[in-house]
Amino acid sequence: MTTTSDSIQALRQLDTQSHLHAYTNAQAHAEQGPLVVVRGHGVEVEDDQGRRYIEGMSGLWCASLGFSHPRLAEAGAQALRTLPYYHTFNHRSNPAVAQLAAKLLALAPVPMARVFFANSGSEANDSAVKMVWYHFNALGQPGKKKIIARQRGYHGVTVASASLTGLPGNHADFDLPLPRMLHVDCPHHWRNALPGESEEAFATRLADALDARIQAEGPDTVAAFIAEPVMGAGGVIVPPATYFEKIQAVLKKHDVLLIADEVICGFGRTGAMWGSQTFGLKPDILTCAKALSSGYVPISAVMVNERIHASLMANSGRLGTFGHGYTYSGHPVACAVALETLQVYEDDHILDRVQALSPRFLAALRHFGERAVVGEARGVGLIGALELAPDKSGKTAFPPAAKAGPRLAQLALEEGLVVRAMGDTIALCPPLIITEAELDELFARLGRAFDRFEAEVA
Ligand code: PLP
Repeated sequence: MTTTSDSIQALRQLDTQSHLHAYTNAQAHAEQGPLVVVRGHGVEVEDDQGRRYIEGMSGLWCASLGFSHPRLAEAGAQALRTLPYYHTFNHRSNPAVAQLAAKLLALAPVPMARVFFANSGSEANDSAVKMVWYHFNALGQPGKKKIIARQRGYHGVTVASASLTGLPGNHADFDLPLPRMLHVDCPHHWRNALPGESEEAFATRLADALDARIQAEGPDTVAAFIAEPVMGAGGVIVPPATYFEKIQAVLKKHDVLLIADEVICGFGRTGAMWGSQTFGLKPDILTCAKALSSGYVPISAVMVNERIHASLMANSGRLGTFGHGYTYSGHPVACAVALETLQVYEDDHILDRVQALSPRFLAALRHFGERAVVGEARGVGLIGALELAPDKSGKTAFPPAAKAGPRLAQLALEEGLVVRAMGDTIALCPPLIITEAELDELFARLGRAFDRFEAEVA
C-alpha cells in the first residue's frame, strides 16, 4: 500500500468507522482517530507518516525481542508452510506443541507436571480458575471455591479473569466481579504503608490481614490466591521485602493454592527467568503468555504441579474427558514461534543481558525520581515506573482532571517514545534486546517530555 496522504486519511477513516478499539475511549476515538503503526525495526515502531518511536513498553509488555526479529519471522513462515493448523483435542498433537510443553516444564521455577495451552493471558487465568474448581471437586471439597486476588492486580478481561483483576475500570458496568472472587490489599508500600512502617512490617500487616480474611471467609471455602510477582498494569508494584514469604506461609496454613500470574514477569523481565524466582514464589499453578512468543503470535500457557495434575487426570477419567480447551490450544504456528523465541533467549543469553542492563535502567529511573513531579520511582530487572505526584509523601496526587499521566505519555510520544500511563503512573518495559545506547536515548527522550511537562505544571 502506498502511503500518500490520501491513503493515510482513507485508512484512518476505515478504522474510525469500522473498528471498535480495545481499551479505548470510543467517543474520543471518533474525534481523534487512530495512531496507525505500520512496521517495526528493532526496538522501534514506525507510524503511517514514517515517524519512528522507541517502544518503551514493548507494545503491551510483550515484544521482548523487539519488532523485527528474523528468526521468529522465519519460524512462523516455516510452520505456516508445514502445518498451518491442527488442534489438540481428542489426543491429537503436533511436534511443536509437544516440544514446547517439555521445554516449559524444563524451565519451570518449581517442579511442574503438565502444560496446557491457550491464546491469551486472560484465557490462561480463566483456565487456571477452572482447573482449581475442577481440582477441589475432584477431591470431594466442592465448597472450596473462592479465589483471592489483590486490589490493583491485573489478570485479564474475560469474565473470570476480569473478576480477579482488581481495577475498578474492569468491573464498572460489566456486572463484575463474579461471586467467589475476592480482593485483598495492594502491596504498594509507598502509597499504603502507615507512617514510619517498614517494608517488613507492612508485609506482616498484609499477611495478617490475609490470614484474617481467610479465617472470616472460612478456610474450607477458599481455594486459591492469585498474584503477579510484580503487579504490571496496576502500576508496576514491586512487592515489599518479605511479602511473598509471609503470604505463602498463610496460604500453606489454610491449604490455599498459589497461582503465579507470570504473564508479564515470565521469561526474563525481572532479571531471572521467572518473577517467581526473583521473589521466592512457589506456585502450584503458573500462567504465562506475552514474552512466551515475544508477542509475535497469540499464545499462553498454564503449568500445573503434580498435585493438580493428578486430580485433573483422575477426574477426566471419571467424567470421560477434561472438558476444557480452545480451538487454538497448542496451535502449531504459535508453538513453533514460541519455541524459537525460547531458543533465541538462550542463544542470545537474554537473562545475562537483562542483569547487565538493569542497574543502568534502575539508576536512570532513580534519577527521574529526583524530579519534583515524580512521587516514586520503582522497578526491577527491565520493568519500572515513575509515579507522578506533587510531592514524595505517598499521600498526595495531581487532580484527576489534570490527567497528568496521559499528558506526559502524549509529550513522550511527541518526543519519539512510547510509554504507558496507568493513571498518573508512567510505566516502562522496553524490549529485552535494547542496547545501552538505545536505553540512554529512551531516557533522553523521556527527559525532554518531563521538561515540557514540568514547564506546563509550573
Ligand atoms: N495477566 C497479566 C499479569 C497481564 O499483564 C495481562 C495483560 O496485560 C493479562 C494477564 C491478560 O492477558 P491478555 O491481554 O493476553 O488476555
